[in-house]
Amino acid sequence: MKSLFDFEREPEPELSRLDFPGLVELMSNCQRCRLKESRSRVVPGEGPVPAELVFIGEGPGEVEDQTGRPFVGPAGQLLDKILDSAGLRREEVYITNMVKCRPPLNRTPRQDEVEACWPYLEAQLRLLAPKIIVPLGNVPAQFFLKTSERISSLRGQFFKWRGIEVFPMFHPSYLLRNPAKGKGSPKYLTWQDIQAVKERLDELRRSAQG
Ligand code: URA
Ligand code: URA
Repeated sequence: MKSLFDFEREPEPELSRLDFPGLVELMSNCQRCRLKESRSRVVPGEGPVPAELVFIGEGPGEVEDQTGRPFVGPAGQLLDKILDSAGLRREEVYITNMVKCRPPLNRTPRQDEVEACWPYLEAQLRLLAPKIIVPLGNVPAQFFLKTSERISSLRGQFFKWRGIEVFPMFHPSYLLRNPAKGKGSPKYLTWQDIQAVKERLDELRRSAQG
């Protein structure tokens, strides 16, 4: 079945001309969709520019909406642990979301909200030029892979999107709701997945050096 997030949209020339700070400033005043009405702060993303590794969540939660920073609430603290387990530091990866404003009551972002926000993420990815994109959970995974398959069947595999490697993983919020750690559990699989990301990143670094 077709993904809910399968839309075509031309890149916007005025966004393509901006540098990263300009893009962040534009996002901070965004009026493109209904989420502007309930947000406290826009959450553009955080990390180095460019970035070898980019993690993409669904949308800001409550703490993110209050602080303007991505993945700093409970899900973010778990994401930090996941990164740490593979020897990745939060400071060396870029972290953002499909939509930059919090959906009311943390509902799933709607198709028109994802579509309204996509030009920003597209412009960010062009400037970030990552080696690997990690979509976290159903919404970003189904967007990048243009499928309605669920994250449980997409995670743990490498795909390509516009020449960039894409490796979907479970969303940390899902792991918080499913804390079992036994073999084959979502947590167990996630701890394997992040190792695979780190190993692939190391491989890509080595081949870039020749
Ligand atoms: N969940 C997300 O998808 N993104 C955040 O930034 C925080 C929680
Ligand atoms: N649903 C999601 O959105 N993400 C997961 O990781 C699992 C179920």
